[in-house]
Amino acid sequence: MTASDESGDAYTRQRERMVTRQLEARGLSDPRVLAAMRKVPRHEFVPEHLRRHAYEDHPLPIGSGQTISQPYIVGVMSELARLDASAKVLEIGTGSGYQAAVLGELAAEVFTIEIVEELAASADATLDRLGYTGIHVRQGDGYAGWPEEAPFDAVVVTAAPPRIPQPLIDQLKVGGRLVIPVGNWDQSLEVHEKTSTGIERKVIFPVRFVPMVGDVQK
Ligand code: SAH
Repeated sequence: MTASDESGDAYTRQRERMVTRQLEARGLSDPRVLAAMRKVPRHEFVPEHLRRHAYEDHPLPIGSGQTISQPYIVGVMSELARLDASAKVLEIGTGSGYQAAVLGELAAEVFTIEIVEELAASADATLDRLGYTGIHVRQGDGYAGWPEEAPFDAVVVTAAPPRIPQPLIDQLKVGGRLVIPVGNWDQSLEVHEKTSTGIERKVIFPVRFVPMVGDVQK
């Protein structure tokens, strides 16, 4: 066995512990989400010097002043998106690409937009290296969504706008869900489900994400 095989096993054990202690213990129960988070190598999405912290119960810096979300939050958002294997999903705020990879395990196709060029490039490279062919990364302002690929079964936003960007609602299918942190300092995680008669809004719990920048702030 080589040194890298050994560390690979260690990461697998850490990931297993992350799922039981941080996700299942807090009530996450969707078997597909738990399986996805058992599978995606989170340590591949954090800077090399932080890899040994990749499976801890908190966010981590990923460069450009941004962070990879706490594993529990990634699990909650993935569960709220309620994806099936044929789903088409849009993510705003690619960051490291980790949430996109988890969504990629759950859905058929993921379209993800990141405003910071270096992050978009490095997430794209990581996802390619890991073989995620169904995940498409674009650099740009996610405010406008990805109209050429709409409509989506779910839109997952991982940066907090002060208000809901209307284009993201417009790009949902009927029955589709927008999972989004909203607010400036006091933010809450919300789900906006598009029904045949309008939008049903649910508030989940308070969260703290980096702000969504760009057009939504104008
Ligand atoms: N989902 C990421 C974590 C996201 S951190 C992960 O799994 O690692 C939030 C990201 O949203 C940051 O990378 C930030 O640059 C990006 N962002 C902020 N405003 C944005 C916008 N208007 N459009 C697209 N990305 C944006």
